[in-house]
Amino acid sequence: MSLTVVGSIAFDAVKTPFGERERMLGGSAVHFSLAASFFTDVRVVGPVGDDFGEAEYAALTDRGVNTEDIEHVAGGRTFFWKGEYEWNLNVRHTLDTQLNVFGEFEPKLSPASAGADALFLANIQPDLQRQVREQCADAQLVGLDSMNLWIETARDALVRTIGTVDMVFMNDEEVRQLTEQPTLLRAARDLMDMGPSTVVVKQGEYGAALFTGDGFFSLPAYPLETVIDPTGAGDAFAGGFLGYLAAEGLTDAATVRRAMTYGSVVASFNVEQFGTERMQTLTREEIDSRYDELRRMTAIDEIPAV
Ligand code: AMP
Repeated sequence: MSLTVVGSIAFDAVKTPFGERERMLGGSAVHFSLAASFFTDVRVVGPVGDDFGEAEYAALTDRGVNTEDIEHVAGGRTFFWKGEYEWNLNVRHTLDTQLNVFGEFEPKLSPASAGADALFLANIQPDLQRQVREQCADAQLVGLDSMNLWIETARDALVRTIGTVDMVFMNDEEVRQLTEQPTLLRAARDLMDMGPSTVVVKQGEYGAALFTGDGFFSLPAYPLETVIDPTGAGDAFAGGFLGYLAAEGLTDAATVRRAMTYGSVVASFNVEQFGTERMQTLTREEIDSRYDELRRMTAIDEIPAV
């Protein structure tokens, strides 16, 4: 299955207890597409400004990501986000968000991107997500992510867009905030009532939980001794997940569980260095070897052989 993603393409300023970067490549669509690129061909859609240069394009194209639908807005500036993490890395504070070229963005997908079988609406303003969804009429598998900013400022638009997708990926705080439900199960049911058949709740270092109409699956995160920068973990998780599903072309329960495991594994690598740095050196062999470790760690009845 071909895979298209729309979302933020950004410069990020990030401070964690272990260091900081004043300006590095980031954005939900960037983290997603780099993660997905280990499994399938991916096309990224979104605008950038004059400050987005060859090095930034190369970070994507070196991993085989198709950048033809990145729109260069002459005279514009790329989306900018600044955040800081507490010692407890699950706690993040957004210090600045500058939409810049996203403020005026009207997505116009090339036929190749619009014809994708699988689509991910990564975190960005929900009306923009829906405009892209409407252009990808043939997509059989559509996922969506969002965040507290859009729940607070564009709730109705977000609910409308959720109504057009198959899978929602959001973190636990966000699903509670959006549905105003006290438990994840009730929150997931409310989300499914809006349209999607599957809800994946990301729980940071505690893993992720998957809800469907008749099923539940939960996976811990791969235990890491060192985490440098959690930025983009959620997008990398979704990229590994949907990238694997798109590569397999299947969505049966066992394939979805494997997809969730691949998502967790790629996310675990993403947080080992700042921004997209770890994705530049990562190999599929490293992913597969950590996948096997996570499989053994989570086996219940029989521990698989090495
Ligand atoms: P995550 O850590 O997976 O939630 O995603 C982090 C990425 O989201 C960063 O690289 C930011 O550039 C991007 N981001 C932050 N705020 C927004 C926003 N309001 N809309 C779209 N992308 C955002």
